[in-house]
Amino acid sequence: MNGLMMNQQLTLASIVEHAERVNGSAEIVSVTAENPRHRYTYREAFSRSRQLADAMSHWGLQQGDRIATLAWNDYRHFETYYASACSGYVCHTINPRLFPEQLVYIINHAEDRFVFLDPDFLPLVEGLAAQCPTVRGWVVMASESHMPATELPNAICYESLVASGSADFQWPPLDENAACALCYTSGTTGNPKGVLYSHRSTMLHAYATMMPDALAISRADVVLPIVPMFHVNAWGNPYSCPMAGAKLVFPGNKMGDGETLCALINEEKVTLSAGVPTVWLGVLAHLKASGQRVDSLRQIVVGGAACPLSIMEEFDGYGVEARVGWGMTEMSPLGTVNASASQRDSYSDEAFAKIRLKGGRPIFGVQMKIVDDAGEELPWDGESFGSLLVRGPWVCSSYFKLEGSGAHAREAGWFETGDVATIDPDGFMAITDRTKDVIKSGGEWISSIEVENVATDHPKVAEAAVIGHYHPKWSERPLLIVVRGPQGQDLTAEDMLQWFDGKIAKWWTPEAVEFVDELPHTATGKIQKVALREMFKGYTFSS
Ligand code: ADP
Repeated sequence: MNGLMMNQQLTLASIVEHAERVNGSAEIVSVTAENPRHRYTYREAFSRSRQLADAMSHWGLQQGDRIATLAWNDYRHFETYYASACSGYVCHTINPRLFPEQLVYIINHAEDRFVFLDPDFLPLVEGLAAQCPTVRGWVVMASESHMPATELPNAICYESLVASGSADFQWPPLDENAACALCYTSGTTGNPKGVLYSHRSTMLHAYATMMPDALAISRADVVLPIVPMFHVNAWGNPYSCPMAGAKLVFPGNKMGDGETLCALINEEKVTLSAGVPTVWLGVLAHLKASGQRVDSLRQIVVGGAACPLSIMEEFDGYGVEARVGWGMTEMSPLGTVNASASQRDSYSDEAFAKIRLKGGRPIFGVQMKIVDDAGEELPWDGESFGSLLVRGPWVCSSYFKLEGSGAHAREAGWFETGDVATIDPDGFMAITDRTKDVIKSGGEWISSIEVENVATDHPKVAEAAVIGHYHPKWSERPLLIVVRGPQGQDLTAEDMLQWFDGKIAKWWTPEAVEFVDELPHTATGKIQKVALREMFKGYTFSS
């Protein structure tokens, strides 16, 4: 017998309708190139989203068509998120830090119809527009008076576009399983893969992130998402904040600028913020140098990479609780949160120092297990470690246009994260290693394989391997290990580093080069990364 409850679809338009009526006066503050403190209300934001959606409805798009963004965290990006998704299109957020060839690959693979871009990215986009045949127009996110001169074909001014639409636009009814957002991850080898979120998965994830032992977001909060909106939808903040009625503060392109971030925290009375460890190092450095405090801030969420204990302890000194979050693009992204500090009295100092470094407990909705190489489940004893598998309503089942490949699944119905972990009897998960061959620098992926391919193309290189190695500022940086070829006895580290110029993104260039006589191999001839990481365990980067 079925229950007799209404089958209301979980769609993002319901956030708009709720926030307009209930949280309409809550503010959104943004740093933009045009205005260091743009401020307006949710009511105004969603009214403009409706205008934008109305304007877009004349573009002849089909439901499910992809609308891309190359944009910072600000109010225009927020409006575009909702205008596209609530109209039935898919908001495809692109990471502008990728190398132009990857951007072209992603735009073509997604078959983006229109691309919304911040004027900062105009030179980048002008260089690649000719290689993107599916794109019919480029919307420059600027006002008419700030519209830069451009040779882009079919360049559209964002503010003129918004002005041409009506705020009476009504959202079309959508199925909750319809796609709403797309984000590519280069977290695995090969080409970037698209993770296609649905309205339902996004809504459930946003609900879950608001829980007290997760991100704990309420109407009383002022939230500063430093994690980019092009990085897994800023960990759900653009959805959860209007749901809760929390004020949103967007840092624009200042997300790496400790001084601006501290000014935003103090002037806007930010209570909660989220970002990768590198960002928090910048904030702490500014606090130390300036003697400032951040008294309004009660909690930060640190994710995307392991958080050093020093960051947490320094924030303790400012009265700020640092919570570790673990997740991935394929998980919308939140999987676990470590809220142990909220139960500080239950732990001795020694136990607390250990437990707070862990990834935390799964939030309700995410199930996890660890398995050995044979796929056998391992106990939650805090010591056995194995491949971490997850499942849940906001975990991806297949990648976009790779449906049915099952490439990422060791076991049907579970997603293999590529992380190695222990889980203790209380459900605290701790990452101990990674099986995926990638490097995470400042919260962004570097593909080892691509760096290795460029290195081995060098005529004086016999063999090369790249490993991620601890770096105090960026969490990890690539270390290139080279075996010189027969003609390569004079090859220097400088020659090697110069070789990367123009071939890969600058920040993908290895931090250092070390030469060895041979690399460790498996029986099948593959380079043994685990053995290599062991060999360089005690290595420190000089810079
Ligand atoms: P995000 O950075 O938003 O978590 P990505 O898909 O870019 O999402 O990266 C996910 C990967 O980042 C994880 O599989 C894991 O390897 C690493 N990672 C994320 N959070 C943590 C954490 N708290 N501790 C250690 N590694 C983490």
